[in-house]
Amino acid sequence: MSMYETTAWAKKSATSNFEKITIQRNLPGDNDVRFDLQYCGICHTDVHTVNNDVHIGLDDLGGTQYPVVPGHELAGIVAAVGKNVTKFKVGDKVGAGAICDSCMTCDSCQKGDEHFCENDFTFTYDAAIKHGHLVTESGYTYGGYTASHTLHESYLIKIPDAYPLEKAGPVFCAGITMYSPLVQWKANKGGMKVGIIGIGGLGQFGLKLAKAMGNEVYAISTSPDKATAARDAGADRFIVSTDANSMKSADNSIDLILNTVPAPHQLSHYLPLLKKNGTLVQLGLVLTDHHVQQIPLLFKRINITGSLIGSIQETQDCMDFCGTHNIMADTKVIKAEELDDLFAVLANKNDTVIRHVLDIAASM
Ligand SMILES: [Zn+2]
Ligand SMILES: [Zn+2]
Repeated sequence: MSMYETTAWAKKSATSNFEKITIQRNLPGDNDVRFDLQYCGICHTDVHTVNNDVHIGLDDLGGTQYPVVPGHELAGIVAAVGKNVTKFKVGDKVGAGAICDSCMTCDSCQKGDEHFCENDFTFTYDAAIKHGHLVTESGYTYGGYTASHTLHESYLIKIPDAYPLEKAGPVFCAGITMYSPLVQWKANKGGMKVGIIGIGGLGQFGLKLAKAMGNEVYAISTSPDKATAARDAGADRFIVSTDANSMKSADNSIDLILNTVPAPHQLSHYLPLLKKNGTLVQLGLVLTDHHVQQIPLLFKRINITGSLIGSIQETQDCMDFCGTHNIMADTKVIKAEELDDLFAVLANKNDTVIRHVLDIAASM
């Protein structure tokens, strides 16, 4: 495949600073779209990957491949399309999330569940390219801290014209992570009681989405000082999980809980909140085993399950829903020269409500 050169911000080792480098990507083939990045959201996963401290890939590839170009919250403008592309045209606002390729042939891919590709979907950065619908000179994917990208049209999301581009990136990560389980467990039809544990970036999106879908929304947090932020995001009730009386007040009342806590915690602590047939969905990244008291599962037929981002179609639906209901993350735009300082701060902080967004054009 013919290649072109573009600029990216990369780290060459876990201890080096970010620097501007030149990388190569494939020119668009018949089914591909080349787009100019305007913004890329900055995610906690970016920090873990560049520091080579946590790996979420199902097959551990043996650590981060350097140079690493992070970023899986991409937003830009279409610059060129291949002759078979039907969904996009030059000038369209487009974005992409954590999935940049999959096998396209397995049962999951055929059914539009790329995030459950039986041959493993390809992460947007720091992943070996195995399905061949995109190419780099290194054989590893480079993410969105870059001036230009080329993807197969099947992995791109159309951003509504009226939606601010700098706000779109977080929809493709935090937004879809919360949207997919809300749809899967039928909260998108409204009329349910939905609990959100953890009021960080994920939790805020969850509150806004669940509320806009027409549900009664409970914010559940260890810190009473998150109450204002939770209510601003649409929470009808605020439960302090470390306060026995507060927990008791919501006993046996919630249909669906989305749990964003990214650190080891006791699941059993939250089960009394669920009604009969209630569901607890694990979304945060916890690498240690859970111990669960099973009596509440028996007596209330409770389900404990998990969810991972969402399919491309669900991500498009999430983007459209956020456009219709004016749902946006609280963002702060930064330039590439601020990346090192920001990553140092984020490495010690887990629940930032503000999502940082890299301004690509201003960083060139
Ligand atoms: Zn992310
Ligand atoms: Zn597949």
